[in-house]
Amino acid sequence: MRDARMTLSITHLGSGSSGNATLLVAGESKVLIDCGFSGRQLEKRLNMLEMTPDDLDSILISHHHTDHAKGAPIIHKKWGTEIQANFETCARMGLDPVNQCRIFETLNRIEFGSDLSILPISVNHDGADNVGFIASHAGERAAIVTDLGSWNDELIRHMSECVHISIEANYDSNKLWNGPYPETLKQRIAGRGGHLSNKQTAELLSNVVGKHTRSIVLSHLSEQNNAPHIAESEVLMEIDDLFGGDISISKKEGPEFSHYLGQSEPELII
Ligand SMILES: [Zn+2]
Ligand SMILES: [Zn+2]
Repeated sequence: MRDARMTLSITHLGSGSSGNATLLVAGESKVLIDCGFSGRQLEKRLNMLEMTPDDLDSILISHHHTDHAKGAPIIHKKWGTEIQANFETCARMGLDPVNQCRIFETLNRIEFGSDLSILPISVNHDGADNVGFIASHAGERAAIVTDLGSWNDELIRHMSECVHISIEANYDSNKLWNGPYPETLKQRIAGRGGHLSNKQTAELLSNVVGKHTRSIVLSHLSEQNNAPHIAESEVLMEIDDLFGGDISISKKEGPEFSHYLGQSEPELII
């Protein structure tokens, strides 16, 4: 049997509207997807994995919203960590695209040695040039996608090839529409440019999971408009016949577990 630790690991440091960051480690390469935490919070969460921000090769930012990008300028300044984003996201984070941020283009592969490559794919989201990421290691793939207002065939095609999928399950429709948010905000969240409901996430997953899919992480759950058991049961109801792997939920506080690519059960972080 192969050693799980030789493969790509995916660890959510926390997710939700108060901050998102996902650590990818493969061989010598250590890359963070999004950094919605303060420098202190990031340091604290990496310390739980016996790492510091100095260990990171790069931070890739999906889009400029504060829950994904807040910490990037501070971390670049304090630790000199490389930040990568597309042009619009870089500009909207207030970073100089020449000196402070490396610009990537959609569908241009970003290579980290021979262990890890990451493909940014375009996704639709509210007033932002948002991207999802497909990470590849030794011929196997993982999707890290969030803040999806909707989806298209290209996203389905990329996600269908992944053995691990981390995807948002933002809100339960009943909770959102019967909850306290102002009407305009409800419509924005539920709109084509907003977030995916549990039902939409379940529908998207039913188009992409199969026997090859080993693990799923549901992320970015709304504290106000969702609950882990509702998200998980709604997704399971839709994909139970298609999927025999593990479903975990990434919460606000993390890291709680790591997935190793190709291995179904996550390993708990104590
Ligand atoms: Zn967003
Ligand atoms: Zn977000």
